[in-house]
Amino acid sequence: MRCEECANKLDRYVDRELTNTEALEIQLHLEGCPDCMDNYEFQEHLKRLVKHSCDCDTAPKAFRDKLRQMLT
Ligand SMILES: [Zn+2]
Repeated sequence: MRCEECANKLDRYVDRELTNTEALEIQLHLEGCPDCMDNYEFQEHLKRLVKHSCDCDTAPKAFRDKLRQMLT
C-alpha cells in the first residue's frame, strides 16, 4: 500500500469504518511506516479531543478537514 492510499483511508480507519481486510492493510502499513504512524496518532488524538468538546458528529468532521488543510 502506498502512503497516499493509506492517508486516504486513515480517516475511516480512525472511525473504525473500514472492512477487516482494509483495516488490516492499514495496520500493516502503519507498522512499517513512521510517517503514516505519526499521521494516525495525530488523527486519533484529534478524534479524542473533538469527542471531549462536542458530541455532535458533523461539526468535528468539518473541523478535522479544516485542520488537515491547515497542516498540508
Ligand atoms: Zn506510509
